[in-house]
Amino acid sequence: MKLGIGARITAVFGLGALVLSILMGGLSYFTTRHFLLAGRETAAQHQAFANAVLVRSELQSGNTQYVSLLASIDAGTNAHSVLYHQSKSYVSSLSVNASSIPTQLRQVVLSGTAATQTYRTAKGTAEIVVGVPVPSVHAAYFELFDLSDLDHTLRVLALTLFGAGVVTTLLGIALGRFASERSLRPLADVSRAAGAIAGGELDTRLDPAAADPDLEGLTNSFNAMVDQLQERIEREARFNSDVSHELRSPLTTLAAALEVLEADRDELPVRSQRALQLLSDDLHRFQRMVGDLLEMSRADAGSVDVFLEEVNVSELVQRSVVAGFGHMDGHGHGAPPEVHVDPGVQAWRVGVDKRRFERVIVNLMENASHYGGGVTEIAVGPGDDDQVEVTVDDAGPGIDPLERTKVFERFYRGSASGRRGTGTGTGLGLALVAEHMRVMKGGVRVESSPNGGARFVLSLPVLSDGDEPGGDA
Ligand code: ADP
Repeated sequence: MKLGIGARITAVFGLGALVLSILMGGLSYFTTRHFLLAGRETAAQHQAFANAVLVRSELQSGNTQYVSLLASIDAGTNAHSVLYHQSKSYVSSLSVNASSIPTQLRQVVLSGTAATQTYRTAKGTAEIVVGVPVPSVHAAYFELFDLSDLDHTLRVLALTLFGAGVVTTLLGIALGRFASERSLRPLADVSRAAGAIAGGELDTRLDPAAADPDLEGLTNSFNAMVDQLQERIEREARFNSDVSHELRSPLTTLAAALEVLEADRDELPVRSQRALQLLSDDLHRFQRMVGDLLEMSRADAGSVDVFLEEVNVSELVQRSVVAGFGHMDGHGHGAPPEVHVDPGVQAWRVGVDKRRFERVIVNLMENASHYGGGVTEIAVGPGDDDQVEVTVDDAGPGIDPLERTKVFERFYRGSASGRRGTGTGTGLGLALVAEHMRVMKGGVRVESSPNGGARFVLSLPVLSDGDEPGGDA
């Protein structure tokens, strides 16, 4: 698994804080321990030497009450004394005996050299032992000091330092999170802007004034890139629209000429009649395609000149169906289909470009009559996430699930176009529907209708549920 930048920055801060607290904690602990222990050793040596002098003078004056002598020396201290005299050992209390003294140290001292040793007894308590030879009376004096209190102090210190280390590490992690969030924020702006541009808002730019000074280069090159992109897209759209415009007038001339020929059709030989028929079919298709291409190029450039007005959705659909039915491509026989409006959405308002929405409805109704034997139902109802949905159903063969996204691609003419219809399809109708819906911040998808045909679902974001006053449809 690859860690993200944020996680890595956090980890580096956390690790840094951990290493730093181990270093600082370790240093403080061992320095303190060293000085405390050295102090205790010096004090112990002073005391032991003073007591050894006392023992020597007592022994010289012939005192042989060893035990009471040692007890009087120990009184009031947390030390215990051991005396070696004439190869025998004497102790001040029952809690110590001669074997309490480490063997090596005892041998060194008995051979005439003073020595000090810090060690831990078998029971786990820390002690200092100081041994002082007293050669003038053939004795050796040992004093053992209990270091439990020092031990306890050091343990508390270690615990405190450990706690401080944990807190510092946690603070380091928190700081790392903060720093990573803070440093990634400008990138989030960039990604938001890129998303908006990908969604068609080509005039989105990063604000150079608000940008981080360190990221000025990124901001400028990003904006320059989008400038280029926008210019290119607009140039392409202009080119497409120019080409379609240019094609329109020769096509009109051709169509007019063809009409003249068709008027005298009966006088032509049969072969020529067939050729004329083929020519006329293809010319029609060509004209439709140029019309669609022109509309497409307008829709492409459309993110710039789109005018959304707030209208009541049920009135919008009803009017678009009636008006669109009149504009349908030669298939608008009979009465326009009825629109069923869910009572819950009756007053909902949406933001649309009415002309574009009518084109969408016309396209769907044309397809339904072309491939599905006509519209069976148009309905308006609530959708997910504050959306309103308009469904257009037919009773045709429906659309294969594998083709349900492809049919919205440009120039895609699915399997149905071969089976039904006259083959005059351009493959642009649904691409236009998708483009218009995208510009109006809505969407379109196709599913299967409950009666087996295709169901096209248009979704639009709801602006208000109609309670507050607004413009009229
Ligand atoms: P065309 O100009 O060919 O109709 P469209 O983009 O409108 O282009 O449609 C693309 C393809 O989707 C059509 O060729 C057809 O195969 C399929 N299609 C569209 N509407 C329907 C429908 N109501 N029922 C079945 N197939 C459809």
